Amino acid sequence: MKVDFHVHSLYSPDSVVDFDSLVRTCKERGIDAVAIMDHDVVEGAFAFAEKAQEMRLEGKWAPRILIGEEVRTKGGEICGLFLKEKVPRHLSPRETMELIRLQGGLVYVPHPFDLLKLKRLKSRELAELSDLIDIIEVFNGKPRFPLANLLARRFVRHHHFLCAAGSDSHEPTKIGTSFVEVEDFNSPQELLSNLEGGRISGKLYCPLDSAFRRLWKVALAEKKKTP
Ligand SMILES: [Zn+2]
Repeated sequence: MKVDFHVHSLYSPDSVVDFDSLVRTCKERGIDAVAIMDHDVVEGAFAFAEKAQEMRLEGKWAPRILIGEEVRTKGGEICGLFLKEKVPRHLSPRETMELIRLQGGLVYVPHPFDLLKLKRLKSRELAELSDLIDIIEVFNGKPRFPLANLLARRFVRHHHFLCAAGSDSHEPTKIGTSFVEVEDFNSPQELLSNLEGGRISGKLYCPLDSAFRRLWKVALAEKKKTP
């Protein structure tokens, strides 16, 4: 199955991805599952998962929704996957990872070598926290630093982490532009063992293009609202 591990729903303040456009785009692009990784909230992931389940009960197709959160920590962003509840922001990276693990979730480090991000886990910290890290994102769709994905791959090769990919889409046209082909899984542990044989594909896109499309969509929605 094809999984995009990093998508933002409109519950993230900077995303305009609504449920219908997510389903449509996944269907068109053959994406079987997405992880909703909203900034510091999990409501969107739960709401989308529920809607997807309702569609399946009606006999319609919908992608599998993995519940995640991209949590702002004192040391940069860290994602939790397979979450049952929200992880609070502004804790230390270690505390955040422990809280993710405590609820049975997986620790997923997004865009670790995006050197233009002011706050991020440095390679030394990643190595120190390796006992708590499950997956490192080695392909992100819109790194600000052009060599970020290359550096992430090199790091993972040296330190033997499991790796994955995510589009980091904040608007519909970017969903599924990065994904991992992986054997089907029914639990976090099964995902980890299947990721050993995962195949990563990704196409970079311009963050400015994404921002422009997002603003355009917001403007259109505003126009519709005005009588
Ligand atoms: Zn993100």
